[in-house]
Amino acid sequence: MSVGNIPGWEKRSAEHQKQYKQFLQRADKNKTLKQLPGFHEEAFDKIDCLQCGNCCKNYSPRFKTTDIKRISKHLKMKEGDFIETYLRLDSDGDYVAKSAPCPFLGKDNYCSIYEERPGDCARYPYTNEDVFLKRPQLTQKNSTVCPIAHYVLEKLIASK
Ligand code: SF4
Ligand code: SF4
Repeated sequence: MSVGNIPGWEKRSAEHQKQYKQFLQRADKNKTLKQLPGFHEEAFDKIDCLQCGNCCKNYSPRFKTTDIKRISKHLKMKEGDFIETYLRLDSDGDYVAKSAPCPFLGKDNYCSIYEERPGDCARYPYTNEDVFLKRPQLTQKNSTVCPIAHYVLEKLIASK
């Protein structure tokens, strides 16, 4: 079943991976950074994350110290208990969720800590920042998981 209100996007994204790679390698940085905010807005207007949830189902954000402080306070938990209950250290030494899907994702795809969610969640899929070009492999991977990343890449390539 297709997700995110763009039928067939997964197949199209799989077919266009080579084009995405070439675009990300050769992109005009200044031009692309100027275009990103508009395409980012347009993508989030068109695509409903609540019909998708792919990121929250498959990947964990980093829970940085400030995230842990804010979220544990919101949940009225001690930081140590919050870490023990929900988090583990990954190979980079970052705290991430112990389990996937994320323990804060509801069946309706709502995030139960949305207002307090980690900074990484608010930034995903990095379509409105220079990480989009600085980490091309991450952007390419995101284009296979996230219809918004796919949409923005398609728009950038079409406007070349
Ligand atoms: S950010 Fe992307 S992967 Fe995550 S829910 Fe929204 S459309 Fe889906
Ligand atoms: S904290 Fe919320 S937005 Fe972030 S991965 Fe978990 S459910 Fe998704």
